[in-house]
Amino acid sequence: MNIHEYQAKAVLKEFGVPVSNGRPVFKVEEAEQAAKELGGPLWVVKSQIHAGGRGKGKFKEASAGEKGGVRLAKSVDEVKQYVREMLGATLVTIQTGPAGKQVNRLYIEDGSDIDKEFYLSMLVDRETSRIAFVVSTEGGMNIEDVAHDTPEKIVTFSVDPATGIMGHHGRRVAKALGLKGDQAKQAESLVSKLYAAFVAKDMEMLEINPLILGKDGQLKALDAKVSFDGNALYRHPDIAELRDETEEDAKEIEASKYDLNYITLDGTIGCMVNGAGLAMATMDIIKLYGESPANFLDVGGGATKEKVTAAFKIITADPNVKGILINIFGGIMRCDVIAEGVIAAVKDVGLKVPLVVRLEGTNVDLGKKIIAESGLNVIPADDLDDAAQKIVKAVRG
Ligand code: GDP
Ligand code: MG
Repeated sequence: MNIHEYQAKAVLKEFGVPVSNGRPVFKVEEAEQAAKELGGPLWVVKSQIHAGGRGKGKFKEASAGEKGGVRLAKSVDEVKQYVREMLGATLVTIQTGPAGKQVNRLYIEDGSDIDKEFYLSMLVDRETSRIAFVVSTEGGMNIEDVAHDTPEKIVTFSVDPATGIMGHHGRRVAKALGLKGDQAKQAESLVSKLYAAFVAKDMEMLEINPLILGKDGQLKALDAKVSFDGNALYRHPDIAELRDETEEDAKEIEASKYDLNYITLDGTIGCMVNGAGLAMATMDIIKLYGESPANFLDVGGGATKEKVTAAFKIITADPNVKGILINIFGGIMRCDVIAEGVIAAVKDVGLKVPLVVRLEGTNVDLGKKIIAESGLNVIPADDLDDAAQKIVKAVRG
């Protein structure tokens, strides 16, 4: 689960990580008081969306002005003007896609005088099964570009969970950033605080870009992007509360209500499959025959009729879906239950695109019979290969 920058900074602050003072703003009327409370003389007005690259982003509306999604203001009036311009406007960045994201929240911060900008991130490294640090002197830039053009400027290491964070980790970060004396001490302290926050809150990823050295000689997290492990959220009701559903895919939210493992993709063939492995294989074979899946969907082992109906509705509600492939291997899941769920859903929402169904396993004959007798326009398939070829042919008309 992702959260906004201002929320991430509040979480990090609890662990003693240095951040600027700031105030979130949801309405234009709140801007003046927030700016006055912060006091100036420099403010930063920052769009809060779940995407990076805001500073270099562009608003779709001319009324939002020419500047990007992160703006420096030198007076309360200027803060108010930027808030008026940006709230409600749609920001397009390299991470939002061309449709952009509507800015419904802003964060007004005390402006910092920057001496240097660094990069620091942490993530769970699946190869080592450890929390890894990635640091670079090249802050404020796209880290993918740094990795591509000057990989020697990126330093990474991982932390042994048996010992936890230690002094040498902090010293390594300080050295990588070229910090000495008191600033090296600050870096060491920062590293242990970030590690503590990461572990305590079950973070999945934490990116500070830029981590700055201010003209005042202080290190500070100027930006913060944090995502949390969804499977551990039940342990963190305070974090779960920070969820902003307007930032998420509506179909994925609906799917999560039914405990369906669903991810929106950009192809044209809607897939309903049981088992993650079979779902992956189904997506691969659709690709093999030249089309792309519109989603990943694993309805799970013990899906009920209600779950199947909900899954089917989510798929058909997607305007990108030009055909549907149902591929079920009935083990614990019975084919007749799937068949009944599909029929109930089709009767409910109608069927405007071709539907190929491949059933195999427990009660397969009964399942096929139910579908055949339903009078629905379903294309039956015998195996996965046959099913993939049939749905690809059907969507190509
Ligand atoms: P992003 O573009 O979404 O990554 O947003 P950031 O929070 O990283 O802000 C973008 C850029 O704005 C930073 O890299 C800084 O160069 C600049 N910026 C942000 N806050 C301040 C500030 O307090 N003072 C100054 N001078 N620049 C800032
Ligand atoms: Mg940034």
